[in-house]
Amino acid sequence: MSGRVQGQIRGWCPGALRPMPSGDGLVVRVRPQGSRLTVEQALALAGLAEAQGNGLIDLGTRAHVQLRGVREESLPQVHAALSGLGLLDPDAGTEARRNILTTPCWDGPETPALVAALESALADGPTLPPKFGFAVDSGAEAVLGAASADIRIERSRQGLILRADGMASGESVSPAEAPERAVALARWFAAHRGEHTRMARLIASGLLPPLGAAEHPLQGPPLPPGDTPFGACFALPFGQMTAATLRALAVAPLRLTPWRSVVVEGIHGLPCPPGLIADSADPLLRVAACTGAPGCASASVETRALARRLAPLVPPGCTLHVSGCAKGCAHPGPAEATLTGRDGRFDLILNGPANGTPLARGLTEDQLTERLRGPLAPRL
Ligand code: SF4
Repeated sequence: MSGRVQGQIRGWCPGALRPMPSGDGLVVRVRPQGSRLTVEQALALAGLAEAQGNGLIDLGTRAHVQLRGVREESLPQVHAALSGLGLLDPDAGTEARRNILTTPCWDGPETPALVAALESALADGPTLPPKFGFAVDSGAEAVLGAASADIRIERSRQGLILRADGMASGESVSPAEAPERAVALARWFAAHRGEHTRMARLIASGLLPPLGAAEHPLQGPPLPPGDTPFGACFALPFGQMTAATLRALAVAPLRLTPWRSVVVEGIHGLPCPPGLIADSADPLLRVAACTGAPGCASASVETRALARRLAPLVPPGCTLHVSGCAKGCAHPGPAEATLTGRDGRFDLILNGPANGTPLARGLTEDQLTERLRGPLAPRL
């Protein structure tokens, strides 16, 4: 393996130019502009996933797309294809900075224009920590509040606001000034962050940005699977689909959501492709599970088949997280119940993250099923 993909795991965010080694080959992460794929891009990515990867495609919590199982010798062809599709940045620094999550709930030209202007402004932006990102949440309501972002452009009663994550309210901005003001806020963060890597932590430490905070965002709920005003929305179990599924969805541009779902733009009444979820009551929406073994070398347990078996035991409103190891990639925060793999068995953590303190250690599947069915069930 070359130096390009070696030794870059900690504190580093993978991209197309800096793919990440995994148990099933390289993971090539693509950040589509505006969290949206054109029909041509979606069809070409499906073809690339089959020709140069293992045919599996992930959708991440920042609405990025990942081709899995790519061989290192295939990277030049993958990069050439992505470049031809407008999906490759000129260099790794630009790719890392262009960490923009866009609401799927937009109409009209304003939101795409804001994203394009923010991308341009970021070309001269500061160097930021790997996970630092922006949310362009400029639909009728701000729906990305629970999604990871550090600087947010949102809707308030008065119009657009610029809000620093960690503050309850933001400053009114015009559409024309919002992108430059967002980058100025990022510069302030870069100059003052010290050891902090995220805006909310810096603010929690007591340092406030030079930003008015008079306007609250108009907050709305995440977009559920099913028919939506923006098109048919389908959720991907565990955020993964096959190339064939992506091809089936690509009958119109696709809006990618941070809730691991895809909106087929402007198309209503589309039948649900096999394996996807169109019902917001589906128990599979209550479980999160990472790649696990054998796809991830850090895992000693298989995760997703177990999560499917356990999903019917999870009550509505609760989340069960099955994690291959304590890193907790699939669900970084706490869940009502987390099963963390260790030495081929599972530790059970309640109301905590994958690296939380276990209530019970070293459980087999039968033992943890009994726990989830038994007296613990009401606490989930
Ligand atoms: S949580 Fe651990 S096992 Fe799962 S994908 Fe992340 S590193 Fe791999």
